[in-house]
Amino acid sequence: MSVDVIVIGGGPVGLATALYAVRSGLSPVVLEPRAGSIDKACGEGLMPGGLQALAGLGVDPDGHDLRGIRYVARGRVAEADFTAGPGRGIRRTTLHAALSEAVAAAGVEVLPFGATEVTQDDTGVTVRTDDSGDDGPTLTAPWAIAADGLHSPTRRSLGLDRDHTTVRRLPSGSGGVARTADARPLRRYGLRQHYGIRPWGDHVEVHWGAHGEAYVTPVADDLVGVAVLSKQRNPLSESLAEFPELRDRLDGAPVVTSVRGAGPLRQRTTRRVAGRVLLAGDASGYVDALTGEGISLGLAHARAAVAAVVADDPQSYERSWRAATRRYTLLTHALVQVTRPAWTRRLLVPAAATLPPVFRGAVNELARPGR
Ligand SMILES: Cc1cc2nc3c(=O)[nH]c(=O)nc-3n(C[C@H](O)[C@H](O)[C@H](O)COP(=O)(O)OP(=O)(O)OC[C@H]3O[C@@H](n4cnc5c(N)ncnc54)[C@H](O)[C@@H]3O)c2cc1C
Repeated sequence: MSVDVIVIGGGPVGLATALYAVRSGLSPVVLEPRAGSIDKACGEGLMPGGLQALAGLGVDPDGHDLRGIRYVARGRVAEADFTAGPGRGIRRTTLHAALSEAVAAAGVEVLPFGATEVTQDDTGVTVRTDDSGDDGPTLTAPWAIAADGLHSPTRRSLGLDRDHTTVRRLPSGSGGVARTADARPLRRYGLRQHYGIRPWGDHVEVHWGAHGEAYVTPVADDLVGVAVLSKQRNPLSESLAEFPELRDRLDGAPVVTSVRGAGPLRQRTTRRVAGRVLLAGDASGYVDALTGEGISLGLAHARAAVAAVVADDPQSYERSWRAATRRYTLLTHALVQVTRPAWTRRLLVPAAATLPPVFRGAVNELARPGR
């Protein structure tokens, strides 16, 4: 099989990468060991920028239109509508099916193998694969784009993981750097489950509790997803006790999916490019799910990574990755850090309700389409 780019991982970002590649005249192949319409722990709120990127790829999955974001805590509410058009709550299985259909229509093969080893030289990349314990085929291509998720095996094997240390340059002339362990590394986890209940609004509702947040996304006329993000690793049913208003809403509603989890959410990378291998989506680093930007951001990575490959200039991807990721990283990191102490968590929703332009500005800064 002769291909231009091996896409490692067939989640939303890997499949979008394949679609961007085809549109750019490249021939991709996708490696994805999981069969069927893949489900995953996710809040499932696609922000307006992400929805527009999907439309640009000719992908329009069913879901529930989202008008904006609503923060809720102890009877206080702050609400901001999107100004760049609606977002959409979309079940992951629906999103995966729609992307898979588009990939198949574009003539891209998705091979049911996981990448087990990635090696490269100046001219290309070789990827060995695994077929449920047995060796799968070995593929070669001039490029590989790895979109293999939060705990990306490709990222790890290329030594691009960044640990929880801060690197400080020593005074000029000394020629060295000092590494100090971060005092309190940020470790948060996410859980999600779905309830068969009519959505009670058109916003993603974020309920702020003492230790975590629960966010509610309508994904169909009779279905809402609830994702809880927290540094505590309690069962979902226990975590929901922190959110009495939400618990009352869900009381008696049938639970229609099993709990899925993910974490630690924060994953840092030293670089996004190693020779002829580029990282995209969660594999390229992740801050937190609190601002619901992961898929939209990953779609921007996918487009930028393909553009760098087409230009035969992989290093340009570092710049475009930073440009796409900067505002998300700054705002999400700031929000997660600022709300670590209990007293700021208590003040956040009243403050957002008191300063609507600030809240609206932050929401729309994150929601707007990527450049
Ligand atoms: C609790 C929670 C809530 C979230 N809420 C939102 C939200 O509301 N909105 C939003 O936009 N984002 C949200 N996110 C983030 C979003 O889920 C991710 O950003 C998104 O899934 C990233 O897509 P991806 O394709 O990069 O990775 P993934 O979706 O993780 O896909 C990676 C794929 O790679 C495959 N893979 C792994 N290893 C290999 C291998 N060796 N070889 C080949 N394939 C491999 C996996 O099987 C998987 O299918 C949330 C995340 C969490 C945890």
